[in-house]
Amino acid sequence: MRTLTGAAATRLRGRRVPAVFGSGGVCLYCFSLVYTTGKGVRMSQPITGSCLCGEIRFEIAPPSGGFRYCHCSRCQKVTGAAHAANLFLPVSQFKWLSGESLAKRYNLPGAKRFAVSFCTQCGTRVPHKIAATENMLIPAGVLDAKPDIAPEYNIFWGSKAPWLVETAQMAKFEEYGK
Ligand SMILES: [Zn+2]
Ligand SMILES: [Zn+2]
Repeated sequence: MRTLTGAAATRLRGRRVPAVFGSGGVCLYCFSLVYTTGKGVRMSQPITGSCLCGEIRFEIAPPSGGFRYCHCSRCQKVTGAAHAANLFLPVSQFKWLSGESLAKRYNLPGAKRFAVSFCTQCGTRVPHKIAATENMLIPAGVLDAKPDIAPEYNIFWGSKAPWLVETAQMAKFEEYGK
């Protein structure tokens, strides 16, 4: 087992901690796959994301900076769901792979930062840069693999949908229910 710091450090519950690698190139803290660069520095493997029609594709490079469920009324509108599941990380760790020109951004008038970007062909939400910051918001549902961190907490709980039932309290079926 090796312990690394600096560029190879990862995040654990909001604190920066050294990534500790066990067998099989998996970080023992966040369980993300890691690989060795030519310089011998281990970095987490990039994760791709894509929209439903597949025209827009992008890549993120861990470590991610945060992962939250947002229950605000704006997120309910843009997702059509009880809450958004948003991952955050610096712009420098984000790269478009294809279809960027198909993404349309809507900035909510009067809002300080609230915006939404979506694929104009299939309507899927796609990442956008958060205004006045150097961070990207990544809708976690469009990622093609499990990110390096798990959702940390719920925000805007006071605005939650009046019909929300937490999934832990609901029956679960592999596919369609009864
Ligand atoms: Zn699309
Ligand atoms: Zn929100």
